[in-house]
Amino acid sequence: MRATVVGAGGLGGPIALALGAAGIELTIVDADVVEMSNLHRQIAFTSNDLAQAKATLLASAVTARGGRAKGYKTRWTTEDADDISGDSDLIIDGSDDPATKFAVADWAVAAGRPYVIAAALRFGGNVFVGAPGSACYRCLFEEPVEAATCAAAGVLGPVVGAIGGVAAALAIGLARGDRTHAGSIYVFDDLRKSVVPRIVRFAARPGCPSCARAPIAPDREPVLVAT
Ligand SMILES: [Zn+2]
Repeated sequence: MRATVVGAGGLGGPIALALGAAGIELTIVDADVVEMSNLHRQIAFTSNDLAQAKATLLASAVTARGGRAKGYKTRWTTEDADDISGDSDLIIDGSDDPATKFAVADWAVAAGRPYVIAAALRFGGNVFVGAPGSACYRCLFEEPVEAATCAAAGVLGPVVGAIGGVAAALAIGLARGDRTHAGSIYVFDDLRKSVVPRIVRFAARPGCPSCARAPIAPDREPVLVAT
């Protein structure tokens, strides 16, 4: 089993360490280097790692724990996706960039791969789960919007660990063939107040351009909302 982890920061750290420990062979992709201002939420790194590439450091952290991983210091883009992620069975996004999240989701849908998209900001976050035949990320959000980033708006350190852990657990489920949560998003509004997510399962959006390229057409189930 192989997986790509896009983003090696606060979310990608716990995601990669958990998946690597579960025996999944990882490709880790991130263009950035470690900065002092990130360390409060990027617990895979220390002040000894400043100015070094996050992707290769995180891959080393995975291998030091007995896992298998390689890191690429580059931005994950659609152009390179087949080369970098073509041998991955699933893909997990923990980047801090809406455009990258859409690119990852669109590629996964077109390539018929299950995927997880994780996001954290301030005190909460969300985790989307997709798989062939389910409603996709673009069915739900349609287009990237100009969103606040962790760098600009901040995020509570433990929040990224919690959201990353949920993303890792759902990704391990996908790796084991569990499609129960495909087409759902877990929403954590404020982890200071509640750790219970709103789990929203939704239908494919007619006319979704991403689903139109999918090898398997999504089911068109009615929207169910669970809290
Ligand atoms: Zn769609």
